Amino acid sequence: MQGQKITKNSDGSLNVPNDPIIPYIEGDGIGPDIWKASQLVIDGAVKAAYGDARKIHWMELLVGEKGFEKKGEWLSREALAAMEEYVVSIKGPLTTPVGKGIRSLNVSIRQKLDLYACVRPVRYIDPVPSPMKTPEKVNMVIFRENTEDVYAGIEYEAGSVESEKVAAFLKNELGADLPEHAGIGIKPMSAVNSKRLVASAIRHAIDNKAPSVTLMHKGNIMKFTEGAFRTWGYEVAKELFPEQTLTEDELWDTYDGKAPEGKVVIKDRISDMLFQQVLLRPDEYSVIACPNLNGDYMSDALAAQVGGLGIAPGANIGDTCAVFEATHGTAPKYAGLDKVNPTSLILSGAMMLEYMGWKEAHDKVIEAVQKTIKKGVVTYDLARQMDGAREVKCSEFAAAVVSEM
Ligand code: NAP
Repeated sequence: MQGQKITKNSDGSLNVPNDPIIPYIEGDGIGPDIWKASQLVIDGAVKAAYGDARKIHWMELLVGEKGFEKKGEWLSREALAAMEEYVVSIKGPLTTPVGKGIRSLNVSIRQKLDLYACVRPVRYIDPVPSPMKTPEKVNMVIFRENTEDVYAGIEYEAGSVESEKVAAFLKNELGADLPEHAGIGIKPMSAVNSKRLVASAIRHAIDNKAPSVTLMHKGNIMKFTEGAFRTWGYEVAKELFPEQTLTEDELWDTYDGKAPEGKVVIKDRISDMLFQQVLLRPDEYSVIACPNLNGDYMSDALAAQVGGLGIAPGANIGDTCAVFEATHGTAPKYAGLDKVNPTSLILSGAMMLEYMGWKEAHDKVIEAVQKTIKKGVVTYDLARQMDGAREVKCSEFAAAVVSEM
């Protein structure tokens, strides 16, 4: 196949050729529709930004229903190896095959490739209907830990042999006080996984000149998991970024509340309070680093503040590779109807271009999507909420975006 591989250096930086090979997974349900639309927009942006000097060579990976039909496997070892080998890839949503012994293809991909940071930028696109009075003040990036916390899946049903054994150990050996026959879940959180997540959030803040990184936690109640996340977060800031970061105390004690140019303020907030603050004072928050469960809640809550999941992009990033993806599911009732909104996957493609260092192409996508929606050219989901909008099909929306470049 034409094109060259993207490679990664030991310091994490990328070598991106002008003709990179990028693997893609079309996805199930609405996947083929939104992928086609997204590919058109991404290619259009690259062309508009660089003419013939740069071009992506797309390489399809058969995963999900297509993989099962054509190769008898939902998620093959070769597909996983390709995502790792080619460093950057993009995917549509995948159906979780019910009763086929696979928990979730998406979770499997994240775990097998150790994609430990789930990154979700949340930014308002005018005039998408929002429940906020000033949604334009929302401009945050969430870094959610992807590998541990209650998602480690260590859970025992009430009354089972396992839960009774664990309860007996906790009562008899450690003196814990437990209700009779309780279901029991375990919440492991480690320094190594928390620190690498917070480090990636701080690195992002430094690279993008973001003013702050907020550590979100419920450490007042769960001191040795969530509280430790907070401690480890401050520690890694001092260990790896002593020159580029300062704490809120240092900000006030030394700089009278005004951070010097180029310094990222590291602060922490208890999770329930942070949910209030992102609603009431969203402009005080920029990058948010959080454990897995907090991140799950916060990602969707913030997406709702700017108009919902249909337009929110996402990526799962690890040390060896990154997979960019739409944040919604396969919406099977709309499969093949050329109807749904492709913006989530299109904006995930823009994130991918930015991650590759193709900033000009990233900006083309963002500007063109904004202009298109501003003109009221939108798919059914937004049209039903916007006065005077012109409802278009999925493919027509993509064509309209490209025409704005
Ligand atoms: P879903 O596919 O996200 O769809 C739920 C509803 O959200 C749709 O009926 C539609 O609402 C709206 N919606 C979703 N995507 C949209 C788009 N692009 N444009 C406009 N509206 C959109 O959630 P689900 O029905 O719970 O899940 C279906 C399957 O997707 C499951 O197999 C699940 O496991 C999988 N899933 C995959 C991923 C992933 O691959 N990352 C994530 C989540 C779920 P209206 O009906 O109101 O129009």
